[in-house]
This record gives sequence, C-alpha cells and structure tokens, in this order.
Amino acid sequence: MRITVDQDRCVGAGMCAMTAGEVFEQEDDGLVVLRMTEPPEQLADTVEEAEQLCPSRAITVLPAAP
Ligand code: SF4
Repeated sequence: MRITVDQDRCVGAGMCAMTAGEVFEQEDDGLVVLRMTEPPEQLADTVEEAEQLCPSRAITVLPAAP
C-alpha cells in the first residue's frame, strides 16, 4: 500500500493521527504529515480506517507499487 496526503485539503481535524499515529502526524499548524509513505501490511486496516474518517478526504490509499 502507498499513501498520499493533500495538505491543501487537510483541515487539521487530527483523525488520522489519532487513528494511525504510526503513519500520520500533524505539523504545528495541524496539517497532516506522513511519517511513512509505504506502511507495512499489518497497518493496512488502521490506515484505511484513517482514510475513511478524514472529514476532508485528504488521504488517498493506493495499491503498492509493482
Ligand atoms: S484527518 Fe484529514 S483533515 Fe484531519 S489532519 Fe488528517 S488528513 Fe488532515
């Protein structure tokens, strides 16, 4: 799995960092920052949950690079 985030869409709600703190963190201004772009498979469920919980749809989960 690969993840991208769109800081232009992020509203700093923090659901991602609360749900999957291994992968998402927030800058001082609240905007999302990725701690890793290709998390291990065991984090897939929490990453997908974070994607669904994000109120601004700023998180995109893609298949792993071939
Ligand atoms: S949940 Fe969405 S809006 Fe909130 S900090 Fe994360 S990416 Fe930004």
